Amino acid sequence: MKIDPAAVEEAARLLYIRALKILPDDIKQGFTRLQAAERSATGRRVLDTMVRNIAVAEQTDNLLCQDTGIPIYNVVVGRGVEFDGWALKEAIASGVARATREHPLRSSVVHPLTRQNLHTSCGTRIPVIHIDFCEAPDCLTLEMIPKGSGSENNSWLKMALPAEGVDAIKTFVVDCVLSAGGKTCPPTIVGVGVGGTADLCVHLAKIAATRPLGSHCDDPQGRELETQLSNVVNTLGVGAQGLGGDATAFAVHVEVAHTHITLNPAAVNMQCHSARRALARFTPAGVAYE
Ligand code: SF4
Repeated sequence: MKIDPAAVEEAARLLYIRALKILPDDIKQGFTRLQAAERSATGRRVLDTMVRNIAVAEQTDNLLCQDTGIPIYNVVVGRGVEFDGWALKEAIASGVARATREHPLRSSVVHPLTRQNLHTSCGTRIPVIHIDFCEAPDCLTLEMIPKGSGSENNSWLKMALPAEGVDAIKTFVVDCVLSAGGKTCPPTIVGVGVGGTADLCVHLAKIAATRPLGSHCDDPQGRELETQLSNVVNTLGVGAQGLGGDATAFAVHVEVAHTHITLNPAAVNMQCHSARRALARFTPAGVAYE
């Protein structure tokens, strides 16, 4: 199967807009679960308001949040798929710039030193593009994740000592959730990376934070850590929008990589309640949006 860069550009454009406007069903179901479990009257009121905000945004074809985020694209390439890698990168950036200009969207991307905004939502190394490969034949998926600053500003890395073990990771995650408080617009998905190198660990935390609710870590110990930490974070009292209550997080997600014998890295990356994702699936039958 050959991938046409023009189709990638159009998908990248549409995905950015769709991601900003349509909250995935798993997050909506996550809200329903938290509303049912919330014991604080204030917490219930805040959750109700957030759910109403989501419904109004979708009914009026508006953005779910004013923060258009940093554009991130995850490309997963199946077997037997042919494409020009450079053209694919250019097509994604061009789709992002078109969405920004044509919708129009606020460009949230600036040069880190001059703070100059090109008003394209693009710049040096932006959009962020991750490419991975899978076994499925004749399939390429393009997933778009606009990551807002409230959630991204609350990112941490700890190079713990191996002797400190798993307890250091658990304490670190709890400290991060408390330190973030309401700044991440909770309820959140708390993404935890465990192992690898410093950079891989932070990357894993982002993968974990942006995974759909209901998905689980492939590693059995990682999955157990997910369950333990998911139970703990909703006893911390941060609550929806940091105003108190049980609904601090939809879930804690963990991703694991093997590491060096003298390393014990842990990273946290948060996803806010506006946990937007949109995906396009390229197959020989055409492009389908999910
Ligand atoms: S953290 Fe999320 S909900 Fe809060 S302002 Fe940023 S994108 Fe919007």
